[in-house]
Order: sequence, then structure tokens, then C-alpha cells
Amino acid sequence: MSDKRIERVGVIGAGVMGSGIAAHLASAGVDVLLVDIVPRDAPAAVDDNDPSYDHVRHARNGIAAGGLKKAKKLKPAAFQRKGDMARIQVGNLDDDMAALGACDWVVEAVIERLDIKQSVFARLDAVRSEHTIISSNTSGIPLAKMVEGRSEGFVQHFLVTHFFNPVRYMKLLEIIPGPGTAEAVTQRMADFCRDDLGKGVVFAKDTVNFIANRIGVHGMMAALQAWLSDGYRIDEIDTIFGEPMGRPRSAIFRTADVVGLDTFGHVSRNCYDNLPDDEERDIFLLPPVVDKLIAQGRTGQKAGAGFYKKVGRKIMVLDPETMEYIAQDKPRFDSVGAARKLSDPGARIKTIALAGDRAGKYAWKVLSASLVYAANRLGEIADDVVSIDRAMCWGFNWAIGPFQIWDAIGVQTVADKLTSEGRAVPAVVERLLASGSTSFYGEAGGYTAAGAFETPPALPGLHLADVRKGGDPVAGNESAELLDLGDGVLCLSFRSKMNALDDKIIGLGTQALEWLDAGRWQAMVVANDGPNFSVGAVLMNIAGLAQAGRWRDLDVAVKAFQDFNQAMKFSRAPIVSAPHQMALGGGCEVAMHATRQQAAAETYMGLVEVGVGLLPAAGGTKEMVVRALANIPANVKMDRFPLLQRVFETIGMAKVATGAGQMQEMGFLRPVDGWSVDGDQRIADARQVALNLVHSGYKPPLPADNLVLPGADGTATIDMGLNAFKWGGYASEHDCVVGHQIGRVICGGDRAGVKTEQQLLDLEREAFLSLAGEPKTQERVGHMLKTGKPLRN
Ligand code: NAD
Repeated sequence: MSDKRIERVGVIGAGVMGSGIAAHLASAGVDVLLVDIVPRDAPAAVDDNDPSYDHVRHARNGIAAGGLKKAKKLKPAAFQRKGDMARIQVGNLDDDMAALGACDWVVEAVIERLDIKQSVFARLDAVRSEHTIISSNTSGIPLAKMVEGRSEGFVQHFLVTHFFNPVRYMKLLEIIPGPGTAEAVTQRMADFCRDDLGKGVVFAKDTVNFIANRIGVHGMMAALQAWLSDGYRIDEIDTIFGEPMGRPRSAIFRTADVVGLDTFGHVSRNCYDNLPDDEERDIFLLPPVVDKLIAQGRTGQKAGAGFYKKVGRKIMVLDPETMEYIAQDKPRFDSVGAARKLSDPGARIKTIALAGDRAGKYAWKVLSASLVYAANRLGEIADDVVSIDRAMCWGFNWAIGPFQIWDAIGVQTVADKLTSEGRAVPAVVERLLASGSTSFYGEAGGYTAAGAFETPPALPGLHLADVRKGGDPVAGNESAELLDLGDGVLCLSFRSKMNALDDKIIGLGTQALEWLDAGRWQAMVVANDGPNFSVGAVLMNIAGLAQAGRWRDLDVAVKAFQDFNQAMKFSRAPIVSAPHQMALGGGCEVAMHATRQQAAAETYMGLVEVGVGLLPAAGGTKEMVVRALANIPANVKMDRFPLLQRVFETIGMAKVATGAGQMQEMGFLRPVDGWSVDGDQRIADARQVALNLVHSGYKPPLPADNLVLPGADGTATIDMGLNAFKWGGYASEHDCVVGHQIGRVICGGDRAGVKTEQQLLDLEREAFLSLAGEPKTQERVGHMLKTGKPLRN
């Protein structure tokens, strides 16, 4: 056995999962060989020296190449950057067996048929090198059957790695080792998939459909049965079982449509067929309505119809009686309304599940079925509650897992309610309560099948919630706090509504920068643990000042924001920002002005101010110009306009990078910046980057005061482009007004020549104030505040 690094991975099967796994590996910098079967009509293999070799090879690799092509077009994107595709070589199962055998890891993702998987493994067994790890992505075939007849070396190096679809976005990876799998192999895979691929690893037992699909699909089926038996409408159920119940927004039916009713039905049927002794076996039988939908090809989003169907601009819902689609209602329930006011998911779930209203009755019926089922599975599918809870959060996007829900409602409360309804209380729950404990999580960790509490494997990374538990913040106000990350590293964390940036954040940040300059702290991380890094500046304040005509105050407010960002950029101590999810407008500007960025892989960053008729004026427009011209000395004569035009397009079209890879391509991340493939590790990584900078003697940069810009001539060219857009019907009159102001800043004002950062900042403010005074900009801002959506006017 060797502990060789995993650098080259073979992926067998270029379908939905295989191509998704290949794309994710390539995005993480791993070389991939993606193979599939040879197309039936492909020519026979020829010798390497045959002149038609390339042509024949191309035809024989057709299926793998086709799968890859599909992956390239997927939305949301499977790749971080399109260029990552270059790391994937395609091949086929006949010509490339030797190359597969030489890979460090081969993951099998062929169709879900035991005989086919077995034949693939037999062939791999004959060619694998002694260190090659082999895994199957099966959703439910027992591992024991897949390794029947295989060599001892193969068995020692074999396990199941169950990725979820879409691979890039779903954090869960269930790893199932067999009794013969070498401990070191399991550990090596877990380490690699966690650290290099950013996955949330959960160890599961070799049981049908493993953890997440077993509990998740059971819960979905319980929801379907109650839908049909109790006369609820689809839109009612999805209103109840979305975010209010700690579930994803797509709730029950929209989730099924997105997953595909055929895929969902397949997992459910697999449970029914292979779990003869399961006490809930019958729930896995698909109701005739769903069978009919699948038979008619109404398999959900990919088919254009499922439980929902888009008709014209309206999204209609299925009426199970007529199998026709009907208009949606806007269902309202008291309990759901009350829950929406609560931020803690456990409190929300409790509020609804214990309410006796129409929503509460349905929620209790479906949720309690899940809670009981999960409790009865402890010991069977996993040995501890933590694994089951993590699997449901990472694999089904539940806000908290079933055992955390038991605790949130109260284990005794749930048990009493079950008893009062004449239902059996799970043995595990009875044992827990009999031991004197009242919850599945205690001081010592999560409950286990053995009846003890054990500390779960720590989640990698540095979590602000843990930092807060360790002591009071260093300073704070309503909108932000400063936390001590240890080793002299401070953390500026936002906590305003939607983490929108306001004067309180700027105030506290400015205070922190003074402390850093004075040497009281060594470095600072700018990061938070909200759903999004920041959605931008607080529009309400801007709108208020503009409407009251308080231009001087507006200028002061914008200047304060600019000064803060510049102070970060030139701070004597290094500052590392760690954005995640949405980092828009002002959020993007703050992140970009740090000494370095350490973004979560899943960060959606853009300067989107044009949506409200404004421009990035806290240094964002300036910074994009600085970055575009970086490394071009002022005395080099060359046409800089195409570079500036690119900046104009990024800002003028409010382009948003979807992921850190694209952030690099669009200039939001520089080559010196980094990203964390597991976004949950971004704060720990940012802290480390900050300390590395401290230890290598960091000194702030000089301002980029050598910006050679074209002045009015450049702006005129941009205006010409804008007019062409207007004449073509792609831009409004006001788009041109906004675009002109952005172009003027990018081109350095009216006079051509060498400009400083401060001159561009002054131009940004001038343009901002001018646009803020435009009635159409005010209309856009008002509309955004009212509806949350941009207005085209
Ligand atoms: P898919 O149908 O999209 O792709 C299967 C691939 O297998 C195809 O490219 C096909 O050409 C290839 N194939 C067909 N016959 C073959 C043969 N004889 N030898 C080798 N390859 C052959 O399927 P998928 O959804 O990507 O599923 C692949 C595996 O992943 C299955 O085991 C499935 O259960 C599992 N899985 C699927 C999902 C999901 O959501 N789709 C999620 C987790 C796991």
C-alpha cells in the first residue's frame, strides 16, 4: 500500500454523474481521463502508426466526448472555468484500459446495473497498479456484490464514493468502505475528497441507498402520500415545507421536479424492492399519479413538466384528480407567517409543527414520520446521529438534520405527542430518555447507536460561531463586530440585514484599521458567516439623501466608504477578505480592496450598481482600471483602450462571476489571490494567508498613480457603442446616461494623460452624485427597494 498523492483520476461513464465528477476534479486542478463505451457504429481500433489513427480515435471516444460537451453547457456551470476542460482527456473503455490502470484513483459512474459494474471491475482488476484506488458512485448497489470475485488487492483498494448531483454544488459525499477495504485507503480518500475537492464527507454503512437518499426519499414519499390522502394542494405544501420548515426553497415538489421524477422514482423503487423488512416499506411504493407522470414523460424540469409546468409566463401546478395544470394560489397560514419572523430554523420548525392550524397538521404528519424513521435507522445506516444530520444538511439542503430537529422541538415533547396519537416511540428515543438525557446532543457530542455521546469528527475550518462561544467580541455595534481569531489576527464580521454595508460597518472597520496601523493587532480578516458576504451598500440611505437633495451629505458618505477601502488597501498590516456566496456591489468593492482575497469557491461576485442606475463609487471602478493596467509601465506606448473596454463591459453590463474560477477570469481575483475549494474553510485559510504575509515582512504597496488613460476620446468611443446598443433596442436612454458616466471614470475624465488613484476616486464620486440626482435612477432605486428586482427604464 502506498500513500501516493492523487494526481490523475480515471472516471468511467460520461453521463450526468461521471461528467460532473470529471468537471469538479478538473476545476480542482486534477488531471482526468474520462472514458465511456465505444459507440456501436465506430470503426475498429487501428495501430498507433496508422495514418487514420486520430480520426478513428476521435470516433471511438465519441460518447465520452459527447458527455463532456454536455457538461460544458450545463447551467449552473459544472466547471469553475471553461478552460479547466483542458485537464480532461477523453477515451474509451476498450483502448484506454492500461491508462486507467495507471491512474491513482478510478471512479466508476456507469449505469446502475450490477452486471455492467461487475464487468468493468473485472477488467480494472486485471490492469490496476498496486496503489490504484477504485470506487463506485452507485446509489444503492451493495458493495459486497460489486467486489464478488475480485482479487484481494482490489478489495483492499475498493470503496463506494457516493457523490450527489450536481457534483460541484452538493457538498455531501458518502463514503462506504467494505469489510475488506484497507483503513488507509478509506482515510486517504476521505482526506483527498475533503481537502482537495471540498466535500463534506460522511461515512455510511453498506445499506440500501445509504444515508441521505434513504431518509430524504422516505420523507418526500411521506409528503406525497399525505398530499394525496389529506387533500392539500402542491402550492400549499411547498409554502409550508420550504424555508419556514428549514428546507430548501424548492421544498418538496419543486425539488422532485429538479431532481427528475424518474431518478426520484428509481431510488424509491430500489428501497421498496430491496428493503423487505423495513417497517415503512410501503411508503416507498410510488403513488399511481407519479407512475403516470413518469410514464407520460412528465419527469420534471428537464421535460418541461412534472408537478409544475410553465405555461406562458405562469407557473402552474398539477391537479392530481384531472392530471391537468391549474393556477397557483397564494396560500397563507398563521403558523408559517409566525415562523417566517424567526431566524433560528429549529424554532421555526417547532412553531409550525406544533401549531394546530392546517399547515401545522400537515407539517407534523410528514415531519414526525421522518423523525421516527430516522431514529429507527440509527445503528442500521450509520452509528451516530451526527453523520445522519450532516448527510441531510449536505445532501438534501436541510437547515438542520432530523436529530437536531428532535432536540429543537424537545425529544420528550415529540415522544409524548407520538404516544398521545397511539404511535410507537422509537426504541432509541426510549433508551435515551430512560438514561436521563433529554436531547440527542450533549456536552460530550452526539448520541450513538451504542448509547453514548461522542465528539463528532471536527468540521475542518475556523467557524465564527465557535469563536463567539470562546469569548466576547473585541468590539461591536448593530451592524458589525470585531472578533479575535488568535495570534494577533482580528476579524471584521458584518451582521447587518443581508450584510448590507452601512456607516456603522465603515465606522467599526475604520477603528480596526487604526488599531492595526498602531500595531495593536498583526493582521485582519474580513469575513462573516451570514448566508451571503454582502449584497452591497444600504440603498435606503442613498435614496433618502438623494431624495432630500442632501448632496453634500451623500458626497461625505461615499467619500467615507472610499477612504475606508483605500485605508484597507494601504494598511500597514495585511488584510485578507474571505467572501462567500453573494458579494455584490459594495460587498465586491470591500473584498477587492483587501491586501489579498481568499474567496470561497462558490462566490458570486459582481459590480452590479447599474441595475439601480448608479456606478461602483467606493473604489470599485477605479480598482478595476488599476487591475486592467497593472504591469504596464506608464512609458510603454500601446493602445490601452481594449483593456479599458473590458472593464466597461464588466461594470456596464453588471456581469456577475459565478464562482472563484470566473472571478479570476474577470479580474475580481488577481493571480496572487486564492480560493478555498471547501468554502467552509475560507476563514481558516484567510487567517493563514494573513499570518504568512505578516511572517514574510509584508509592506503595503504604493498607489497605482501611473494610469495612462485616454480621456474624452475614450469616452466618446464608449458612447458610440452605447448609442449603437440603443438604436438596436438593447439599451434605454437612461442606460446610455449611466454608461456614459461609467465610461468617463474609466477613461480618466475629459483630459487624456497619466492619472492617479485619487483622481479616479474623485471622478467616481462626481459621477455617482450626478446619477443619484437623475429621476430615472431614483425610480430604479425605489423599485429595487420595493421589489428587490432591477427596473429597466
Ligand atoms: P447516466 O445514464 O447519465 O450515465 C451512465 C453512463 O454509463 C452513460 O454515459 C453510458 O454511456 C454509460 N454506460 C452504459 N452502458 C455501459 C457499459 N456497458 N459499460 C460502461 N459504461 C456504460 O447515469 P448517471 O445518472 O450518471 O449515473 C451513474 C451512476 O451514478 C449510477 O450508478 C447512478 O446510480 C449513480 N448516481 C446517480 C445520481 C444522479 O442523480 N443521477 C446521483 C448519485 C449517484
